[in-house]
Amino acid sequence: MKRIAALLLLLFLLCGCTAAHSAAADIFCMDTVMNLQIWGRDADKAIAETSQLLRELDSHWSAVRDDSVTAAMNRGETDLSAEDQALVDAVCALEARTGGAFHSRLYALSELWGFPGKEYRVPSQSEIDAALTEEKWDFGASLKGYAGQKAADLLSQLDVDRAILSLGGNVQTYGSKPDGSPWQIGIRNLEGGDSLGIISLTGTASVITSGSYQRYFEQDGIRYCHIIDPRTGCPARSGLVSVTVICRDGLTADALSTALFVLGLEDSTALWRESSDFEAVFVTDDGRILATEGANLSGCEYEVIRR
Ligand code: AMP
Ligand code: MG
Repeated sequence: MKRIAALLLLLFLLCGCTAAHSAAADIFCMDTVMNLQIWGRDADKAIAETSQLLRELDSHWSAVRDDSVTAAMNRGETDLSAEDQALVDAVCALEARTGGAFHSRLYALSELWGFPGKEYRVPSQSEIDAALTEEKWDFGASLKGYAGQKAADLLSQLDVDRAILSLGGNVQTYGSKPDGSPWQIGIRNLEGGDSLGIISLTGTASVITSGSYQRYFEQDGIRYCHIIDPRTGCPARSGLVSVTVICRDGLTADALSTALFVLGLEDSTALWRESSDFEAVFVTDDGRILATEGANLSGCEYEVIRR
């Protein structure tokens, strides 16, 4: 009897210890507030190492810092480390896959419209034409997704059971809940209040949103958003308010969310039909919500896009 009691006490202590191993932190990085929640024996260490990784990636790839790789590339320096070159190659492949809608050399245009310094203005057509010929690198449309993926890789090398990293609205999950129930990721409601809908997913994945509400200015009743259409050199106006992409690969999720926003509903649906690695949720200017059939969206009324 005593043995059973001792065993039960040990089990209780063990369960208690496991449950206690979780840690959370809010950090400011990549110009946004990030929230990290990690469960597992190495949770505290993982919070510290993940925070450091995110900060390093931010300064390494920042378009605004003079000492970043991006700034060096924009000065014409092409001597990249193997890891940096791998990211540039992956970005170029995604550019090709999206027909150039995702295009990481539009920084001159972002500057022209005043987005980096928040000194917004509508430029002349000749200024736009000139900036379209400049090729200045900017990894802003893919860095958070890449960072989420790198963070998941880092967590896989530690004693971590699961994690949910909210990187400025973009969510990276890692691992699964102990009872096998799915992660529930809210999509932001532009009207404020609760989330628009909930994405359910299991395991490690990225849920990334691009939207015209994230950074924009208005002039003469027109909203100019921070996502540039590479075909025109002007802020994209494709009839969408936001696109959320769900994908196992963070870099792909981030690049595609930006690309689909530029492409609009019809061309995005065509790209989804010829792909098998992502799902998407669209919110249109006129208030429609549409989700591809594998998106696992709940909590709102929506139209299903089928293959
Ligand atoms: P995201 O919020 O991921 O859609 O990324 C938008 C950011 O990427 C902008 O703030 C710009 O820095 C940059 N960007 C703007 N337009 C594009 C584009 N068409 N393709 C790639 N990057 C872009
Ligand atoms: Mg993006």
